[in-house]
Amino acid sequence: MPMVGVFGPEDFSHRDRGGATRPASREARALPTPELEWTPEIERETAHLYDRVKAVIPPVEWPLMAPYVSAINKLKKERNAVILAHNYQTPEIFNCVADIVGDSLQLAREATKVDADVIVQCGVHFMAETSKILNPKKTVLIPDSRAGCSLAASITGEDVRLLRERFPGVPVVAYVNTSADVKAEVDICCTSSNAVEVVESLGVDTVIFVPDQYLAKYVASQTKVRIIAWKGACEVHERFTGAELKMYRDADPSVQIIAHPECPPDVIAEADFTGSTAHMINWVRKNHPKRVVMVTECSMADNVQAELPDVEFVRPCNLCPHMKRITLPKILDSLVNMREEITIDPMIMDKARRSVERMIHLKS
Ligand code: SF4
Repeated sequence: MPMVGVFGPEDFSHRDRGGATRPASREARALPTPELEWTPEIERETAHLYDRVKAVIPPVEWPLMAPYVSAINKLKKERNAVILAHNYQTPEIFNCVADIVGDSLQLAREATKVDADVIVQCGVHFMAETSKILNPKKTVLIPDSRAGCSLAASITGEDVRLLRERFPGVPVVAYVNTSADVKAEVDICCTSSNAVEVVESLGVDTVIFVPDQYLAKYVASQTKVRIIAWKGACEVHERFTGAELKMYRDADPSVQIIAHPECPPDVIAEADFTGSTAHMINWVRKNHPKRVVMVTECSMADNVQAELPDVEFVRPCNLCPHMKRITLPKILDSLVNMREEITIDPMIMDKARRSVERMIHLKS
């Protein structure tokens, strides 16, 4: 079914886009900063962790990282903290300090099962908000509160209210890559794994789908439900082109191409498989291709490469600048100084939780 319209902020009068991040701090509870020297003891203590990343991190870089890795892992115990790391985090974070890894929803859901007082979210701001929404009693920290997202920043709660005025009675589905303000205004959330299922679950012929226009196009291609979309896009995935992928295919017709549905339609058309980050990883584990082009943020290929060193990853490398704001020194600072803490207005948090939980219950 074709999409029936694509709307954006210019279609409405207000222009206050708001910020994607909201810093807060609790520096009063600061601990002393640990020693950060490369010693034989640190080398021994972290050798098993280096083993996990040696396929992607050169030996010369490890002495700079290992003291941070060691200090962070000790501080986690002292703070009764867990580290959640998104698939797009760098290998030393993903493999050496994270307790739970995955896509944004996997992270938030797994965090509800752990007995920790503190969650350190190694990802972007909307992910930390989702963790707070699902874990309201825990302290949720993000090592750099400026880690935003072009999708989440493209739409506000007020935009959703204006869309509802324009299309009365049409339900609104929001991709989880949105702020708590937006989640509070919509009927249900979705991820890139379950977007089609969520849209069809509403039992209507038309749905407003925000904010990713490309994910909306992909959903529209898979369902008979008519989709009214928003003009948001992921600044990482929209840079890939079908022509670029065709070049990889022409150079090696046996190469496998797997793409994230946030990519434009010409990229999806070139792909052998389209799926969420979790589905892409599972696809590589299951099919074990000789050579694969993973069309998504390029740290994910590094992380899967660390697990599957015999698969050759062809890397059209587009980095997410927001994800890359999270580093080992900032994670350490977060645990030492308990910053930046995620805070959400309780009324917004309760409304946003309904939209997220409606999706979770649908899945289960
Ligand atoms: S990769 Fe795209 S969707 Fe993910 S955080 Fe970065 S800008 Fe947002």
